[in-house]
Amino acid sequence: MGETEMKLVVVGAGGRMGQTLIRAVHAMDGVRLHAAIGRPGSPYIGRDAGELAGLGSIGVPVTDEPLEAFLHADGVLDFTSPASSVEFAGLAAQARIVHVIGTTGWSAEDEAKILAAARHARIVKSGNMSLGVNLLGVLAEKAARALPAAQWDIEILEMHHKHKVDAPSGTALLLGEAAAKGRGIDLENHSVRVRDGHTGARQQGTIGFATLRGGSVIGEHSVMLAGEGEMVTLSHSATDRSIFARGAVTAALWGRGQKPGLYSMLDVLGLN
Ligand code: NAP
Repeated sequence: MGETEMKLVVVGAGGRMGQTLIRAVHAMDGVRLHAAIGRPGSPYIGRDAGELAGLGSIGVPVTDEPLEAFLHADGVLDFTSPASSVEFAGLAAQARIVHVIGTTGWSAEDEAKILAAARHARIVKSGNMSLGVNLLGVLAEKAARALPAAQWDIEILEMHHKHKVDAPSGTALLLGEAAAKGRGIDLENHSVRVRDGHTGARQQGTIGFATLRGGSVIGEHSVMLAGEGEMVTLSHSATDRSIFARGAVTAALWGRGQKPGLYSMLDVLGLN
């Protein structure tokens, strides 16, 4: 183990992404798993993090003491829940370590708390940590800018596994934000998040969302630009969660050299 290896903490160690993150940290160069954190009272506490992630024993037991772990680490990888991520942001700021947040389903109030924490902490936050989706966002922004709102309607379709708790997905919102940026509008006042019953005709200039849930789908997203007699579809399929985990580790390594602030994967990938 090299002296310069970045020591990372995985919070939410028992989760789908938590286990994927443990495997990614184990496999990637320049990083080492320093600690793994579970929720107090969770059945994973005390178990070896490597065994939990299917790697065999790696000598890192899951604990429920995040601050203790953060104080001796360089970064934290956090795919949990908005309430937990807000709490971890305070602790990561206290420990002055990089905080990579993949959690989705944010309220405006929680987003404001993360922005406040970023005055003292280096936070990289993104609804999707993959290179492909972030590139798709750039393409969606360009397409939305090129195709006039008077003739082209934008709709975003997504599908995820049946356990997902927030909708639309963080990625669908990321793509919506990108399209809104291309159109020079703000998403909040131009989005149609659900449709049901007699909705009336589509309002020009809006960005619509449609959400599908079922099975074990990791993440399917399409940005559809529908014109008169033609349609452009930009899409991304995730077939393995490791793309998000590798992106999160890349973000942690990138964040190490940055000033306090709130960054996105576009900054990490140089796409901004
Ligand atoms: P999951 O399987 O439910 O995992 C979340 C884990 O976090 C659970 O094990 C949960 O424990 C744990 N947790 C929550 N609060 C905690 C706390 N205070 N301390 C310690 N552990 C805590 O969900 P997932 O599928 O891995 O997804 C997690 C989040 O990442 C979701 O918001 C999802 O949308 C997002 N995600 C983002 C990306 C991206 O690229 N940005 C990609 C995939 C997923 P309990 O079960 O005990 O509550």
